[in-house]
Amino acid sequence: MDGSTITKTVNVILLGPPGAGKGTQARMLEEKFGLVQLSTGDLLRAAVASGSEAGKAAKAVMESGGLVSDEIVLAILKDRLGDDDVKSGVILDGFPRTTAQAEALDELLKETGQTIDAAISLEVDDEAMVGRISGRFTCGACGEGYHDDFKPTAVAGVCEKCGGTDMKRRADDNAETVRERLKAYHAQTAPLITYYEQQGSLSKVDAMASIDDVKASLDGLVAGITG
Ligand code: AMP
Repeated sequence: MDGSTITKTVNVILLGPPGAGKGTQARMLEEKFGLVQLSTGDLLRAAVASGSEAGKAAKAVMESGGLVSDEIVLAILKDRLGDDDVKSGVILDGFPRTTAQAEALDELLKETGQTIDAAISLEVDDEAMVGRISGRFTCGACGEGYHDDFKPTAVAGVCEKCGGTDMKRRADDNAETVRERLKAYHAQTAPLITYYEQQGSLSKVDAMASIDDVKASLDGLVAGITG
């Protein structure tokens, strides 16, 4: 954190197709503003790894690039939102992904007098997303993200942030599955852009720009709602 910590409850949604940079940017916003990144993809991967009933049900769907049922995702999200560390707000990354999830989220927040302060759509070209996703990997120890072409590690296989050497690639980050994930995004998630536009909370950011330029735009937007 760099002193921009906020004191009021702030809830931000990052919308955008797989590869748009939601995870990367959410992690940076988390660091800067002290908000908590909440990724339903991460929560589901943890459920799969733990072998829970929800994880077993989600595994095959995730591998195919489709969307896990609203029922499972909402149960996992509700559980996480009950934790103390998220009480002053969250950056939602990868949630909501359907209109039913967006409506359920509005209801959940209403129970504690909260709202969505900003839904930010990261605007990208689909064609570039397959390349962006296919080369990415993360440090298994600290979660720092890298890319074979766009952000390689200085020393092959060694994390620049923590020195970890256990690099991970996601099973669903292959070209074929990415195309299915893009299809799911356009069919089920893209309509949320209109949903939040109608609520008056939507902003759009050109996410084909560099990571630093996108970060600057997002910092400005989030500073605007926290200030
Ligand atoms: P992500 O890490 O956000 O790319 O998500 C990886 C996969 O987890 C997706 O392709 C879906 O199968 C599943 N998933 C993550 N979040 C959701 C959600 N909100 N609704 C349905 N499925 C989800």
